[in-house]
Amino acid sequence: MSDQEFIDQQKQKLEQEKIKLQDSLSSFAQKDPNLKGDWDTKYPNMGAGDSRETGDEALEIEADESESYAATLPVEFELELKLQQVNRALEQIKNNSYGICNVCKKEIPRERLEVIPETNICLECKEKQ
Ligand SMILES: [Zn+2]
Repeated sequence: MSDQEFIDQQKQKLEQEKIKLQDSLSSFAQKDPNLKGDWDTKYPNMGAGDSRETGDEALEIEADESESYAATLPVEFELELKLQQVNRALEQIKNNSYGICNVCKKEIPRERLEVIPETNICLECKEKQ
């Protein structure tokens, strides 16, 4: 396979991954219209409205809501991070700098890129981190 064919194949994978990640993120997050590439988890409507008047019961519901909000944060963060890496890799393809290790500046082996198309570090450098 030529370099160009390989890059095209990686680009296709990355674009599919990007769509998948954006789908997952949009299932529990809204794209922030002001910030490109940033996602906000839908924050539960804490205690707004009439429910406040019912006292203890409402307080309990509020506590549950903030707990589930906290639980989605690490997932959101992980997806967001991966999306950033995918976007960065797509940028690198555009700039013809795809597949170069960010640390040692050597070419990352194809076998590694095939498994993790969005990576920008070779295995040796990653293990040294
Ligand atoms: Zn390296």
